[in-house]
Amino acid sequence: MILGAIEAGGTKFVCAIGDEQGNIHERAVFPTTAPEETMAHVIDFFRPHRIEAIGIGSFGPVDLRPDSPTYGYITSTPKQAWAQFDFVGTMKQHFPVPIGFDTDVNAAALGELRWGAAQGLDSCLYMTVGTGIGVGAVVEGRLLHGMLHPEMGHMFVRRHPDDAFAGICPYHGDCLEGMASGPAIERRWGKKGAELADRHEVWELEAFYLAQAIANYILVLSPEKVITGGGVMKQTHVLPLVRRHVQELLNGYVQHETILEKIDEYIVLPGLGDNAGVAGALALAAAANE
Ligand code: ADP
Ligand code: ZN
Repeated sequence: MILGAIEAGGTKFVCAIGDEQGNIHERAVFPTTAPEETMAHVIDFFRPHRIEAIGIGSFGPVDLRPDSPTYGYITSTPKQAWAQFDFVGTMKQHFPVPIGFDTDVNAAALGELRWGAAQGLDSCLYMTVGTGIGVGAVVEGRLLHGMLHPEMGHMFVRRHPDDAFAGICPYHGDCLEGMASGPAIERRWGKKGAELADRHEVWELEAFYLAQAIANYILVLSPEKVITGGGVMKQTHVLPLVRRHVQELLNGYVQHETILEKIDEYIVLPGLGDNAGVAGALALAAAANE
């Protein structure tokens, strides 16, 4: 099958032509500017191929309710130009094929479950720590949606006693995203994360917040694997700190060897690297065609 995949992010769109085994034959990246401009690139990229289905993993919030009049839309995003954008409808106009649509992080979770770090498992979480913080979940073999879709990146965290930073989430101030996203790091320390690599206190604090969220996800969903991606996780020394904090927070309560002894294999980087989202979008395309 020839499948089209889109991972639509706030900074860039990753597009691919591939198949239902997760092979990527062709890949292209376009900056996220205005919908007319970005979508023109996407459509030109797919046009020469005889695509049989399309999968889209999109930044959100998105409308995933199939019976909703705005199904397939990006809804109330702070990225003004994209608010109320009919993503699925726009693609359907140009490509009248089945289209699968989900959040970017759900797509990445599915990609990692099929072909990445969570292969062979029944559940996993995919957490991205980048411009925002988002988390996708596969639970008992299915992507988790609920009422709208989970927004685990905005969960509330206990603040560090020495941290006076107000947080930057426009809705909540000091939620997880407000305290630990890439832009939050930049605002708190006055430099981009990539320029703070050798500042231990930066990453200790980052791990303090990420670990609280992950510990809570483990308590709520009991995922079999926790996968962390996104720009901030390029600071690979953060992950060991996160693991240690998670163990300390859970304090032996979750009695499983994975957490007690094998946490290095439990909270991990994406097996598919930067292709988790776009590979997951291929899986969404294949599912839409079934
Ligand atoms: P997006 O979330 O927009 O899809 P990214 O996942 O690359 O894109 O996240 C971008 C954020 O990650 C920015 O705030 C940037 O400062 C931060 N970031 C990117 N690379 C690094 C790095 N090597 N170390 C620390 N932070 C980084
Ligand atoms: Zn928030």
